[in-house]
Amino acid sequence: MADNMTKEERGKQMSLVKNKNTKPELELKHLFWTLGYHYRYSNWNKLPGKPDLVFLKRKKVVFLHGCFWHRHPGCPNTRLPKSNIEFWENKLLKNVLHDEQVYAELEQLGWRYLIIWECEMKKSNRASLEERIHVFMDGDTV
Ligand SMILES: [Zn+2]
Repeated sequence: MADNMTKEERGKQMSLVKNKNTKPELELKHLFWTLGYHYRYSNWNKLPGKPDLVFLKRKKVVFLHGCFWHRHPGCPNTRLPKSNIEFWENKLLKNVLHDEQVYAELEQLGWRYLIIWECEMKKSNRASLEERIHVFMDGDTV
C-alpha cells in the first residue's frame, strides 16, 4: 500500500491530531455525524474565529465554546477565581469582545453560526441541544 510517511512523521502527525481534538470536541463531531450532518472542515482557519465545524454547502459554522473562557451568560461555570479579579475580568472581556468581532465578520461574509456551550454537551442537556442543532442546520434563520 502507498504509505510514504516515516515513523517519525506519523508520530508527529498523530500528536498534532491529539492536541487538536479535545474530548468535548470529539463528542460534538460525533453528535453531528449521528444527527446526519457531515461537516466539511474542522478548525478551519480560513474563516474568522477558526470555527470548530464548517458546513460548506450550507454556509454554516459551529463553535463549541468553553463556558468560562467565553462567558456563557447565566451559567454557573463562569464563576471567577477569588484572586486577581481585575486581571480575569480584563482577560475575559477581551475574549468576549473578540468573539463578538468574529460573529460580526462571519455575518458580513454571509455565514450563519451556532454557538454550542460546553455545558450543553452534558447528557442531561442533550435533547434540547439536538433540537437546537436541527433548527440551526435545517432552518433559514439563526
Ligand atoms: Zn455553560
